[in-house]
Amino acid sequence: MKKIAILGSTGSIGTQALDICRRHPEEYRVTALTARRSREKLFEQVREFRPEMAGLTEGAGIGDIPDDLRFCRFMSGKEALRAAAAEVDADQVLVSIVGIAGLQSVMDALEAGRQVLLANKEALVTGGRLVMEKSKEIGKPILPVDSEHSAIFQCLQGAGPNRAKRILLTASGGPFRTWSRERIRKATREEALKHPNWDMGAKITVDSASMFNKGLEIMEARWLFDMPEDRIQVVVHPESIVHSAVEFEDGAVLAQLGLPDMRVPIGYAMSYPGRETTGVPGPDLFAIGKLTFEQPDEEKFPSLRMAKEALKAGGAACTVLNGANEEAVAAFLRGEIAFGEIYERVEEAMERLSDLKAGSLEEIFEADRRAREIVREKERK
Ligand code: MG
Repeated sequence: MKKIAILGSTGSIGTQALDICRRHPEEYRVTALTARRSREKLFEQVREFRPEMAGLTEGAGIGDIPDDLRFCRFMSGKEALRAAAAEVDADQVLVSIVGIAGLQSVMDALEAGRQVLLANKEALVTGGRLVMEKSKEIGKPILPVDSEHSAIFQCLQGAGPNRAKRILLTASGGPFRTWSRERIRKATREEALKHPNWDMGAKITVDSASMFNKGLEIMEARWLFDMPEDRIQVVVHPESIVHSAVEFEDGAVLAQLGLPDMRVPIGYAMSYPGRETTGVPGPDLFAIGKLTFEQPDEEKFPSLRMAKEALKAGGAACTVLNGANEEAVAAFLRGEIAFGEIYERVEEAMERLSDLKAGSLEEIFEADRRAREIVREKERK
């Protein structure tokens, strides 16, 4: 039986991970759960899965605990995240919280010798070098939950000592794939939140529309698979059936296919190196009929170019891109800036903060703070 701590248990990834725990009660015991603010939902989960510890990480604290939940230790704030990542007994820590707080949680979990199941992009985007060094040091690979990286990881399982020559990172292209550049610039909140294939949180859905999500995924792949950015090719694949592929020296390409359902990559990370049922059927290839692939359009989606530039620049450039993008997306969701301005805000932050370092967690958090400040400053004007 594996003991699992879930950080971000009421979000999209967290609830699907709990679905898998529910399906395999003999395989998993949930020992810790944390949520941001969804108090009632967290209580429900505690009632069902009976963890040792649970916490709310934002807001005014946990408040009154219902009588029937007294068996569980409730905590709040950063202490709750820290306890769930590193103090409560667990073999696996699923980090599915959003934002740069994920970096601290991943480092805490690794320091405590836990296997990290990673659904937080920011940890690798901002602290990829530190995270991968620590993971090597404790001898436990980071198990990716992001569907593309799970696909690449799965394709590499049979590779033995053979290094991949290239990674083919697939992208659905998002809701604006066929739109003109001018129309994308003026896209509304509702339009940006309509993803054709995946059902996800608001931030990542907007990132899919801008393709910053794919930019961040190039960074994740760079660190997870130690692959330079010029050997990571984004391939637009609107059907979202091929979740990514790996090309080898001999010309062979291995791909992983499946329905666009996060329970498959979540389940794979949880059951690795084995596999177990997830409730998701295999894709019906006859019904799907054909799969199509296109070149990405970097004119329409400058996020891809900016991500590669940030990786080449090194230092804190990826952290700056990520922090500025997160602030700009929040401003867009509040209706304060146009969709096209997300790109402008990120580019401006990258230009103004081109010389920051990212050698320690402190430097990374500082770069993140300054990038956000630049975007916010602009909103105030
Ligand atoms: Mg993804």
